Amino acid sequence: MKKETGEDTGRIEEIKRKISAMDLICAGTLQKRLKTCGRPYCRCLTDPEALHGPYYEWTRYVDGRLVHKTLSPDQAQMLEQAIANNRELKALLGDWRHESAEIILGTKKTKA
Ligand SMILES: [Zn+2]
Repeated sequence: MKKETGEDTGRIEEIKRKISAMDLICAGTLQKRLKTCGRPYCRCLTDPEALHGPYYEWTRYVDGRLVHKTLSPDQAQMLEQAIANNRELKALLGDWRHESAEIILGTKKTKA
């Protein structure tokens, strides 16, 4: 590693640190739903407070097909973090490409 590029690659090292600190990453969306159960005399039919749930549903693409999966509350919590990680990862990769291009093109601005 060249010493003179230390300043320039500092931001990249920071990006790598953030990425390596990530545990789970997932794509898709998490929805929280309340449902009626369909039983004819259940209160959920008329009372919104009596709806069943929450039920958690994970929607994502697998091999080009949209897939729905019901999750437990624990799984939903893990997924929520994994989706947030995925979003941050995309932003970090964008930064990484940007930093890389600036270094290659020599257009990296040094702080005054
Ligand atoms: Zn019901």
